[in-house]
Amino acid sequence: MPQGTVLSTNLLGLPPVELEAWVEGLGSKAFRARQLQHWLYKRGVADFAAMTDLAKDFRAQLAGQATVALPEVVTMQQASDGTRKWLLRADATQAFEMVFIPEADRGTLCISSQVGCVLDCAFCSTAQQGFNRNLGTAEIVGQLWLANRELGFAPVGERPVTNVVFMGMGEPLANMRNVVPAVQIMLHDDCFDLSRRRVTLSTAGLVPQIYKLATLTNVALAVSLHAPDDALRNELVPINRVHPIAELLEACWHYLDEQNGRSVTFEYVMLAGVNDSPAQARALAHLLADRPAKVNMIPFNPFPGSRYRCSEDAAIWRFRDELLRRGVMATVRRTRGADIDAACGQLVGRVRDRTTARLGARLRA
Ligand code: SAH
Repeated sequence: MPQGTVLSTNLLGLPPVELEAWVEGLGSKAFRARQLQHWLYKRGVADFAAMTDLAKDFRAQLAGQATVALPEVVTMQQASDGTRKWLLRADATQAFEMVFIPEADRGTLCISSQVGCVLDCAFCSTAQQGFNRNLGTAEIVGQLWLANRELGFAPVGERPVTNVVFMGMGEPLANMRNVVPAVQIMLHDDCFDLSRRRVTLSTAGLVPQIYKLATLTNVALAVSLHAPDDALRNELVPINRVHPIAELLEACWHYLDEQNGRSVTFEYVMLAGVNDSPAQARALAHLLADRPAKVNMIPFNPFPGSRYRCSEDAAIWRFRDELLRRGVMATVRRTRGADIDAACGQLVGRVRDRTTARLGARLRA
């Protein structure tokens, strides 16, 4: 590196304690870090020159040594139901997606945690893309920052994004190094200040990571269950061959105990003739009855080349009734944004696959 070159630090995504240390390293007082966070996250200002209550010389230092580097928007599409999907640049050839789902009482942002995914779930479009890399903390936090900006950020009053779900591309618990600090920034009073019940991490079932997560954060947990028995789940969600259902459920109850959480949401994609029979509903109820669990049934969203069909409406309602009758809370997720391929499991982005073999095949071998 040439002498005198100063590497610019991206302040976006620096956890609060690290930002404080960085600011102190510049010879400034720690409270400057709080001011910076307010500008950056509460007011959505990325330009240091516009941070008017910061001393001029401090602003000059920031301009020289720091940046606020955000993912770049490649395209935005809006569905007929108001759902929006953005394609965001990861690098010269790759991109990832995020989706905003407006509802009467909230605005949910569905964000990605990886460029692609290795978990190879049989019914998921992201899985077909393979995997390239983890997203960094700034790329994860940057999705929320950008969505607020794109949707008309107001410094006071209701934010457009009230809820964040890690249900976009990737497996968040396979990228805890970046996901956990991002979550901290989402919850922190001086940053986005979201309630812990309005941030949901969804996992295909990485059991050791659920135990670790319990020591690091207390956000809501969703688990992609999709089958009531190991034989079927081994096929649909290959990681089940490593961490079977009983182990996974133990980890979920542990997470709730540790975090004083209310319940775990179990996602269950409805696949015609595969996992949607009344007997399977009863088996699922047997697993979850008397437990702090909710089932969120997701009508299967097709994608080019998918080998499944969505269950008939009648099968979906019958499945739900079987659960309810056995005292298991169950809701059916309304499909949103399907006309722009923004629904669950339809996110693809652009992924340069680096994996050499699919997980399902590797675990069968
Ligand atoms: N890897 C995490 C995050 C993805 S969340 C996880 O597995 O939980 C996305 C949710 O949509 C998961 O429950 C996933 O199983 C589900 N899903 C994937 N493909 C789908 C499809 N084609 N139709 C409906 N839901 C799908």
